[in-house]
This record gives sequence, structure tokens and C-alpha cells, in this order.
Amino acid sequence: MRNVVVVGGGVMGSAAAWSLAPYAQVSVLEQFEPGHGRGSSHGSSRIFRLAYPDPFYVELAARALPLWRELEQESGQEILDLTGAVDHGPRERVEPIEAALRAAGRPGEILAPAAAAERWPGLRFDEHVLFHPDAGRVHADRATAAFRQVAAKSGADFRHGVRVASVTPAGHDRVEVVTDGGEVLVADAVVLAVGGWAPDLVARTVPGLPRLRVTQEQPVHFPAADPLSWPSFLHYRGATGSEPGAYGLGSVDGVKVGFHGVGPQIDADRSDRAVDPAALAKVVAYAERWVPGVDTSGAVASTCLYTLTPDHDFVLDRHGAVTVLAGFSGHGFKFAPLIGRLAADLVAGQRLPPRFALGVR
Ligand SMILES: Cc1cc2nc3c(=O)[nH]c(=O)nc-3n(C[C@H](O)[C@H](O)[C@H](O)COP(=O)(O)OP(=O)(O)OC[C@H]3O[C@@H](n4cnc5c(N)ncnc54)[C@H](O)[C@@H]3O)c2cc1C
Repeated sequence: MRNVVVVGGGVMGSAAAWSLAPYAQVSVLEQFEPGHGRGSSHGSSRIFRLAYPDPFYVELAARALPLWRELEQESGQEILDLTGAVDHGPRERVEPIEAALRAAGRPGEILAPAAAAERWPGLRFDEHVLFHPDAGRVHADRATAAFRQVAAKSGADFRHGVRVASVTPAGHDRVEVVTDGGEVLVADAVVLAVGGWAPDLVARTVPGLPRLRVTQEQPVHFPAADPLSWPSFLHYRGATGSEPGAYGLGSVDGVKVGFHGVGPQIDADRSDRAVDPAALAKVVAYAERWVPGVDTSGAVASTCLYTLTPDHDFVLDRHGAVTVLAGFSGHGFKFAPLIGRLAADLVAGQRLPPRFALGVR
């Protein structure tokens, strides 16, 4: 049986362990405790949706959907909750999304803003509204824990509080991993799933990593009546994307609202993850105008990292015996079980679409 070391125990490393554990001896090395709040995967919720303007991602999300159901069956937990999604904004931003759904044979419904406001009184709507039912929330913390639980049942060993200092490929099928504590592990293959730490460790290990920008984002939870009944929502602002898009969804912590990709660039090892009151005030002002169903006096902000590639496409590739899962650009969670499967394919020697390759951007 092959021996695979996964570095990083966020959702992507845990999903990779889930896919690999039935076929390999898997060790996952994670520098912090399970469910820690310094990376990208913590918190109670993430948006799941099939809808993208790009048919490539519609297809990937459609492939991820049954794999979430598989994880639910294997873990005995509810992880994906499809309450639908409403996208709204300028016609030229919403129509390509509706067209991509239609081309994939997936349902979508255009509504007048007044009709949408009647159906979802907690929200206010911009000029063009699209409802699509194959969307909703992933219970995020629960999902990562479920990947861990099922992978561990297949024999994966999760070691927390272990930071990897270096990964040195030694030929096509042998890699040496050295931890901060000086332990040396020799593996047949390594999977690097280190989120916002990729610009350091991955760049030191393999060639061709695109320029990655790590930003600290700040979503806000608001109290609301029956938050789990809410659809997820995306609000495109400005015809060209000149204004940051807003998103939100209901979760067990209330209704989460945030702006997509507006946070400052940081170094994952140096930022103290402090909440920025000015950024919080902007989300509260947005919610006062566009999300009348929340109680803005009860706003609670948190921080989370995006790792952005120049074109927001992921990096999923293999160099020698090192597989890289990186650059999820603020939209990767919904695909996590599929990313796990693709990681196992890469470890087994299969190739993936060139769009995700190292050295192409
Ligand atoms: C505010 C916010 C909202 C989002 N909303 C959505 C959404 O609605 N829908 C969606 O699909 N996606 C969303 N995303 C994106 C999604 O959450 C991420 O793409 C995903 O969580 C990335 O997971 P990861 O495993 O790559 O990174 P991480 O969760 O950061 O995991 C990487 C792990 O590697 C560990 N690590 C790093 N270096 C080392 C080392 N040297 N040794 C040992 N361990 C190491 C870190 O401690 C960390 O735990 C959102 C992200 C944010 C920040």
C-alpha cells in the first residue's frame, strides 16, 4: 500500500484524505487544532451553487453535488441543505448565469424584483433576479469534520499541532517531509493543501505556481428569524464588476453577509486576524439597505483568508510525487469532495484539465 502525506487539514486536505484513505496509508499533518479559525475553512456555512457564468464550473459543481450526498451517507450527518439561491443585479451580469444553467439543463427562473421581494421579504432586489433551486448551504465545519471522521475510519492518521517546514522531492515517487520539530517522514507521494500558506511552502517545493494573493476577508453574521429557511444570495453591483459583489446565506449562526474579495493582502503567518471596524460598518450599511430581514444591531464579524490566483481558477496539478491543491480564490468549498477525488486521481498518475495546471498562468 502506498504511503501518502497530506499537508494541511482544512477542507481540501481533509477531502483528499477522504478519497485517498481507502487505497493508501494516509497521514495528514496540520499545524493547528481541528476546526481552527486562522485559515479558510472554518465557520458554520458556505454557499453551494451550480450557477456560474462559466459552464466549466457549472459542470464541476454538478459533479460535486452527488459526492456531498455520499459524504452525508458515510458520515450519517446532514451537510448540504438546498434552499435555493437568488442572484440579482444588472441584466448583463445575471443573464450569462441563467444561460449557463439552461445550457446544462438545470432549472432557473427569472423574476421581477417586486415578485422576488414578496417571495423573500428578508431581501431587497436589484433590477434583474434569477432564482435557481440547486443551491443553498454547506454546513462547513460539519463537512470538514465529516471528511476527517470518514477518512479516519478508513485508517487515515490526522496529526494536529505538526507544522511542516520543508517538502523535498527525491525522484518521481519519493518525497521527504521535514517538520518544524525535526521529524523526517519519507512518503511515496505528498499532497500540499495549505491554503493561505501556499505562497511560501508550495512555491518553495514545485515550479510554476501562479502569483497568489492572500487576503483577509471579513464576513458578518446577523440575527434573523428562521435563518436556515433563507436562500443563499449573490448581488452583482455594477455592470463591469467595478463595485464589489455581496453575498449571503442563512446558517446556524444567523444570516451571513459579506463582500467578495475586498480584504487587505496579508501574510498568513503574520496577520493577527483582528476585525476591522470600518469594514464591519460597510457590511452593516449594506445590510441596512439590502437585507431588511436581519437585525443589524446584533452584527458579529469574523475573519477568513482568500488565496487568489490571477484568474480565480484553481491550481490542481502534480509535479513529480507532489500534488498541489491551491488557489481556491474564495469559491472552492462547494467543490471540496470533487477536489478530494481529483487529488486521488493525480496521486494515481492521472492528468487533469490544463486549465488547472502549474506553469500555465
Ligand atoms: C469569507 C469566506 C467566504 C467563503 N465563502 C465561500 C462560499 O460561500 N462557497 C465556496 O464554495 N467557497 C467559499 N469560500 C472559499 C472556501 O472556504 C475555501 O476555498 C476553502 O476553505 C479552502 O480550503 P483549504 O483547505 O485550501 O484552506 P485552509 O482551510 O486554510 O486549510 C489549509 C490548512 O493548511 C494548514 N497548513 C498550512 N501550512 C502548513 C504547514 N506548513 N504544516 C502543516 N499545516 C499547514 C493550515 O493551518 C490550514 O489548516 C469562502 C472563503 C472565505 C474566506
